[in-house]
Order: sequence, then C-alpha cells, then structure tokens
Amino acid sequence: MAVSISHLGYKKLSRVIFEWQAADRASLLALFVLMEVTSHWLWCLFVWWHRAIYASYVDMDLFYPVWIGVSLTGVFFIWMVSHLSPLRKDNGSLRKWQAVLVTIYSIYIAVVILVMGHSSLVSGVSLVGGAMLAMMLIRRRYIWNAFLAHILLILVFTIFPYFGFALPNLRQTDVSAFPVVTYSYLGYSEVTAVESTVQNAIVENDKPGWDLLSQLRFSSTFFWRATHLYMALPKAIFIIYTFRTLLLILDASKKEILQHANQDELTQLKSRRYGLTQMKAALLAVEDDQDFSVILLDLDWFKEVNDKYGHEVGDRVLMEVSQTLLQSLDEETIISRYGGEEFLIVLPDTKHDSAMCIAEQLRLSIAEHVITVDENNKFHVTTSLGLYTLTHEERNCIKQTHEMLTQKEASNSLSEPKKMKSFISKHSISKDSNAHLPHDICQRLICTADKALYEAKDRGRNQVVSANEMSAVNEAGIASL
Ligand code: GH3
Ligand code: MG
Ligand code: MG
Repeated sequence: MAVSISHLGYKKLSRVIFEWQAADRASLLALFVLMEVTSHWLWCLFVWWHRAIYASYVDMDLFYPVWIGVSLTGVFFIWMVSHLSPLRKDNGSLRKWQAVLVTIYSIYIAVVILVMGHSSLVSGVSLVGGAMLAMMLIRRRYIWNAFLAHILLILVFTIFPYFGFALPNLRQTDVSAFPVVTYSYLGYSEVTAVESTVQNAIVENDKPGWDLLSQLRFSSTFFWRATHLYMALPKAIFIIYTFRTLLLILDASKKEILQHANQDELTQLKSRRYGLTQMKAALLAVEDDQDFSVILLDLDWFKEVNDKYGHEVGDRVLMEVSQTLLQSLDEETIISRYGGEEFLIVLPDTKHDSAMCIAEQLRLSIAEHVITVDENNKFHVTTSLGLYTLTHEERNCIKQTHEMLTQKEASNSLSEPKKMKSFISKHSISKDSNAHLPHDICQRLICTADKALYEAKDRGRNQVVSANEMSAVNEAGIASL
C-alpha cells in the first residue's frame, strides 16, 4: 500500500492506527516527517528569496549548510516513505529501519532546535507532541529512548555556553535601528529586554511613534518569533488533530466493545452478563414498598426444532421469540438471553399477580406465533416459565437481617442466632460486605425461579409455575428463613 496524504482523514487515520500493519504505520510516520521537513525547506527558500532583508537576521554562513542538510533529510524521507511499506513481511529489516528513521529524525530535529534556539516553541512541540504521535505509529521503546536523549541534549545545550563553548546559532539578532547591543543568541529575558527597548523607542511622550512601527516589523526579534510560530503551530495543530482523531476512534471502539459485551449478537437482547448487571441495579433502585419479580423462560423441545429443521431455523426461532418478548414487554423490563434457549425477564416494581399475568400473556403470545420455514412447513413453539416474586416485606427482612449480621460481625459477637446462621449458609449470602448483597439476592432469585421452571417442565411444559405458589419452594423461600 502506498502511503499518501489522503490517509490523514478521520476514517482513514483510524484504520491506520488500528488496522494497518507496522510497516505501513512506519511509512506514515516517515510521511509526517517529510511534511515537517518540507515546511522547513520552504522556510529556507523564503529566507534565501528575501536574503536582502533577512541576511542581517540570519547567519548566512550557517544558513547554507543547514539548507543543504534539510534538503538531504527531505530526500532521505521521500525514499523512506516508499521503502518502509514493502517491508511488511520482513520484521528484522523493519525494526532496523524504524530505528534508523528515529535516529535520523532525532539528529535532524536536534540540529533544528539547536540552531533555532532550544527554548523555542518548536522544541516543546517536537519534544512532547512529536514523541506522543510517533509512539502511536512505531516501536515505543525507540521513541522513549530518543525522547530521553533529547532531554539530555537540551540540558547540554543549556549548560555549554556557560563553559565558554559557542553553539551554532542561525539567529543573528540585529536591532541596529535601536540603541541596543547585538546578540548572537537571545534567551527569554534578553528577548524581553530587546522588546522593551523597541517599545521605548517607538513610544515617545506616551504616544506611539507610528513611523517606527515599520522598522519594528523588520526587527530580528519579530522575524524569529514569526519563524518559531511558523515552525511550531502547524505541527502542534496537526498533532492535536491526530490525537483528537485517536480519541474519537477510542470512543467509537469503546462503544462497539460495550455493545458486543452487553448485547447478544443473535437475538439483540441484553447479554447474560449485562442482564445480571442491570438486574442488580434495578434491585438497588426499587423503593421500599415495591415488589420485584423475575421470570425464567425456556423453549420447550427446542432440540427437536434444531434436529428437525436445522440450526438456521433454530436461530430464527430464537430471534422471533426475542422479538415477541420485546414487543410484549415495556421498556422498564430487563430482558436478557440467559442461556442457549433460556431468557431472563426482570420486572422491577411488579407484584406477584401482575407478574403472573405478564408471564401467562408471554406464554400465549409465543405459542400463537407462527414460525414459517416455507409454504408447507409452519410450526409453533411453546415455552415453560418459572416465576418468583420477591415481596418488599421479604426484601426488607433480608436487608435488616443482613445489617444486623454486619453489625454483629463488627462488634465481634460471640454467637450468632441459629436462624441467621442457617439463612446465610442456605442462601450463600455473604455477610462480609454490603456490596455482595444485591448480587447474592439476584442469584437466589434466579435459582428460585429456575426451580419453578423445572417444575413447569415436569408438569408437562407450556405453562407458568410460580415459585411463590409452590409449597415445596415456599418452605425454602427466602423470607421463611
Ligand atoms: P426442554 O423442553 O426440556 O427444554 O428441551 P429442550 O430440547 O429445549 O432442551 P435441551 O437443553 O435438551 O436443548 C436445548 C437446545 O438448544 C440444545 C442446543 O442445541 C439448542 N441451542 C442452544 N443455543 C442455540 C442457538 O444459539 N441456536 C440454535 N439453533 N440452537 C441452540
Ligand atoms: Mg428448552
Ligand atoms: Mg434450556
């Protein structure tokens, strides 16, 4: 794949970062570098074109070697852009060339920063933004090493002049129109001094001397400030654009991942995990005087459907049953695919009698629904449903008991009442943390509804059985403990 500027659009860039192979990503980084080097080359061209004016601000003896260096680096990266993509299958060579790319660019940008002034914007943008951008595209270890080397170099650049070493500097500050000395290198405070001198010179008797403004435009300080902005801002904007794209992509993929995790692919209902999470949240949200009902629904003789009509038809049955569930129940109801052909339906704030009506209605709707294989093959499926309603009295009782247990635990009570002990052991409700309580209750509710479901199967299928009404289950009911 030939990498080009057309790959910088949002959608394509997202594909680059997530789908492209390492070789193509490295090639794209070479393209980014080429764009930056080209902007430097254009700056050189501009200075050379206006050399009559700018020769006094730029050290021309250093300028020409720098321009040659920029040109050679540009040619090298033109070659790199096309050379890296074909290395897709040659991992060893790719790593080697990635290291070469990082080294050459590091040396290049170090020289640029050195001759421009390392306290400039260019230096900051390259050091932080450049490193972050590059880390998305090639081996992070190389970038990390180059980053550390740059920090070391900046420290060296800072200290060297104090030991009497003159570092090469393109900046030839000449403000001869004003009564200030000429500097070959200006630090921040020196630039400020020059600027205030300039300001003093153009403000006479508290009024600006406008005729001096044209001279200011050509002042060396202004020229170099503009140069730093030219070199740093497009790069900064480009880096921020890329990061914005990356964050948009991350948002989109997070959504997609969550959707995959929370939604059952076949039926589009909630997944088992998400259904349980929502059930816990709903249980925590119910008011003190509201009942909470749970239904487990299982298709009858579903294996036979698969055996007779094939898995594809079986899948369609699951989808059509899911649609019937969605159409029959309101948005408050939590419907999830609990297992292969088993569905968990949670009805917050629903009393036992209403829940029984809803369950019966569901059974009828599914049983009436015609599954059409073809003109001559139509059939119905039936379902068995197990229901359990946790009344608010039961729930409050559980809560209170749990609170008492927790307090007792905290005060290290010597013995627990027998009733409480049996409550905990029979229902596996953990007393160590309140956080476990909703989870434990949910598991218990499903387990109880499951017993009712099996009873429905035992009684001949195609019916609803309430665990609350089952005397055997009632004895083992949560509140009775
Ligand atoms: P019962 O009335 O006792 O529930 O009988 P059954 O045949 O429905 O129950 P059993 O547990 O024996 O079989 C369930 C079948 O559901 C077995 C499995 O092949 C099928 N199944 C589970 N998930 C899927 C699925 O995603 N697609 C299809 N087509 N079939 C599935
Ligand atoms: Mg079944
Ligand atoms: Mg089943």
